[in-house]
Amino acid sequence: MKVKVWGARGSIPAPITPDHLRAQIREVLIDFSRRPHADGNDPEGFMASQPGLGGFGGNTLCVEVSAGPRRIIIDGGSGLRLLGYELMAGPCGKGQGEVHLLMTHFHWDHLIGLPFFIPIFVPGNVIHVYAVQPDLENVFKTLFQKPFFPVPLEKLGAEIVYHTLEPRKAIEIQGFSVVPYQLDHPDPCWGYRIHDRNPDSKEPGKVYSHCVDTECTRVSRTELGEDLPLYQGVDLMLFDAQYTLTETIEKVDWGHAAASLGLDIAIREGIKRVWFVHHDPASNDQKIFSAESQARRYYDSQVKSARRSGITIPTVEWSFACEGETLEL
Ligand SMILES: [Zn+2]
Ligand SMILES: [Zn+2]
Repeated sequence: MKVKVWGARGSIPAPITPDHLRAQIREVLIDFSRRPHADGNDPEGFMASQPGLGGFGGNTLCVEVSAGPRRIIIDGGSGLRLLGYELMAGPCGKGQGEVHLLMTHFHWDHLIGLPFFIPIFVPGNVIHVYAVQPDLENVFKTLFQKPFFPVPLEKLGAEIVYHTLEPRKAIEIQGFSVVPYQLDHPDPCWGYRIHDRNPDSKEPGKVYSHCVDTECTRVSRTELGEDLPLYQGVDLMLFDAQYTLTETIEKVDWGHAAASLGLDIAIREGIKRVWFVHHDPASNDQKIFSAESQARRYYDSQVKSARRSGITIPTVEWSFACEGETLEL
């Protein structure tokens, strides 16, 4: 199973401004010129020593889960536009494509890529869209109509097939078993547990869990109740970390969480790896890096205090994900 983040921002696209880019380039040039080996001949070595150089990206949420040619897309944030270009190089470009798109909810940051997803305009393509919310088709009708968009839904080209999902009930899509579980967000939002059940493989199959957007007001096993399986037996969890822990206290009911909440759940449930996304558009890359350092201190302190108490806790690999990041499970 391969997971790629096509958009890691939340709320609204937040492209880097020219002023900010210039300031960043200036800092990099100064840093490069101060290095003892800086003779201008080793830019690659310098770049490799600066893993965070590219920042977190500006596009909003869109995630691709794939295994060979089998593919599921989650959410149509502005990152979906870029994925659309890539898909056009395959069957979608010939009008022979089949796309499977799961929607978590219909806030703008999860929709705005849809009118710029080129495969949707190619006759012959079939776009399957899935959501628990029964108003899925109405949302598409609203989105693709004047004066919001010049091309109405019925003239899009591709066939759109709507699927209403039942809460917590598995559906088979492209050899993946997909189960929607409820998250904690002001308008209903559904996360997805995706288990690769490729019938051609003898392996048990990897599990990806999509937990964005959520304030995670329910943390304990009892509170999570019937939504607990979203966090169990998971190889990779994508979790909402729009805010720092202090900000979550200031922004109660805004529908987003901090990394420490995801780490608490990951440690308790033995989740192997966590990616944090839905970065706040008000946060520049530096602030997101500092939120990551704050979360690192929190995680290390949890590990140390467990050790002091003689408790063994599972190791969780985690990081704040950036746009374009890909992980093979
Ligand atoms: Zn969002
Ligand atoms: Zn939202």
